[in-house]
Amino acid sequence: MSFWKKTKKVDASSAEQSERSESAASRENLNELVLQSIHEGVIIVGPDGNIRLANPSFCELTGRSLSELNRVYYDSVINLLDKTGNRVPEGRNPINIALKNKEYGENRELGIVAADSNKNTPVSIIITPTREEKPSLVVTFRDIAQELKEERERSEFISTASHEMRTPVASIEGYLGLAMNPSTATVDERGMEYLEKAHQASRHLGRLFQDLLDTTKLDDGQIEPRMEPVDIVALVKSISDGQIPNITAKGLGYQFGSGSVDQQLSGGKHIDQLVYASVDQDFLREVMNNLIENAIKYTPAGWVTVNVRADNYNVQIIVEDTGIGVPREELTHIFQKFYRVDNRETREIGGTGLGLYLVKQRVEAMNGRIWAESEAGKGTRFIMLFPRISEDTYRQQRFYIDNQQAQSRENVDF
Ligand code: ADP
Repeated sequence: MSFWKKTKKVDASSAEQSERSESAASRENLNELVLQSIHEGVIIVGPDGNIRLANPSFCELTGRSLSELNRVYYDSVINLLDKTGNRVPEGRNPINIALKNKEYGENRELGIVAADSNKNTPVSIIITPTREEKPSLVVTFRDIAQELKEERERSEFISTASHEMRTPVASIEGYLGLAMNPSTATVDERGMEYLEKAHQASRHLGRLFQDLLDTTKLDDGQIEPRMEPVDIVALVKSISDGQIPNITAKGLGYQFGSGSVDQQLSGGKHIDQLVYASVDQDFLREVMNNLIENAIKYTPAGWVTVNVRADNYNVQIIVEDTGIGVPREELTHIFQKFYRVDNRETREIGGTGLGLYLVKQRVEAMNGRIWAESEAGKGTRFIMLFPRISEDTYRQQRFYIDNQQAQSRENVDF
C-alpha cells in the first residue's frame, strides 16, 4: 500500500513536474508570440538601464536590429525629443525618472528618432516597473502619428465650425434682445415668455461655441500663457469683487478673505500680507469667473466665499460655496471634457461640461494645480495652488517687464 502510494506519488510529482515545465515552456512561447506580434514597441530595461529584451516593433521604431539593442544602455539608442524637437533633458526623461522612483509613468508628448532615417515618430510611452526588489521596467512605445493627425483634423473642424456658428448666434441673441426690449418692440406676456426661453437657449449656444473654440485652442497649444508677477491677493480680490452683482442678484452672500495657510478658512478676514505669484492675468480672470459663476449656479441659497492663503512656498486660491455639492464618486471626473454630474438638481441647471476642463487646462498652463473637495448637499470647495514668489523676485521681474512694455510703447509712438 505504502509502495503504491509512494510510486503513485513519484509518478504524480514527475507528471506534475513535466506538466509544469511543459506549461512553463508553452507560456514562454506564448509570451514570445505576444511580444512578437504586438504593434507597440516594447523593451525591458534592467535596473542598470541596459536593454534586456526588445520586440520587432521596437526595432522598426528605432531603426535598430535586435542584436544592436541587446544589453546596451537604453539612452544610447532612444533619442527622446520634446514638442519643440529638442532632446528631453535627463531630469525629465520619463524612463530615467521611473528607474529612480521605481514608479509607473506615462507620457504622450514625446517623439522618438529612428537611427538611420532621422525620422521623428510621436509616441505615447507607458512605463511599468516589475515587482522585483530591484525592478526592471517594461516600456511600451505606441506610435501616435495617425492619432495626432486625426485629432488635429477634428479640432480644426470643431474650431472652424464653432467660429462660423458663433457669428449668427450672436446676431440671433442681439435680435432677441431687441424683441424683448419694450422701447424697441411690443410683445405680449406669452410672447415675452417664449422670447426669454429662446434668449436663454441662444446664450447657452453662444457659450458652448466659445468654450469649444477655447478648448481646441488650448488643446493645440495655440494659446500660450503670458506669465507676469502680480500682487495675487489684490488681483483675486478685484476679479471676485467684479462678480458681486451676479452673486447678490441670486440672493447669495459674499465674503473675501486672505491669510496664511495655517489659519482656519477665514472668509471676510484680512491679514496685511503682500503675496506675489506669477500668473497670466487673463487666464486667472477666466478661471476665477468660471469657478465663481459655477458657485452661483449650483448654490440655491447661502454663501460664495473666496480666500487667498499663503505659506512660504505656495499660494492657495479657494472658491467655496454652500450649494448642492458634488457626490464623492464624481469628484475626480468633473474636470473631464463634457462631464456633467447627472442628477435631478443638475439636470435643471444648464451647462456645457467644458468649464472645469478649461479651468484645469489654464491653471496647469500657469504651473498651478487644482482640485475639488465637496460633500453632497453641503457645498463645494475648489482649491488652486500656485508657486509663491518672493518680493525681490516680484520687483526684479516687474521692473524688467514694465521696462520692456514702456520700450515697445515708445517704438509704436515713434
Ligand atoms: P457646466 O457647464 O456643466 O457647469 P463645468 O465643467 O463647469 O460644466 O462643471 C462640470 C460639472 O461639475 C457640472 O456639470 C456640475 O455637475 C459640477 N460642478 C461644477 N462646479 C460645481 C459647484 N460649485 N457645485 C456643485 N457642482 C459643481
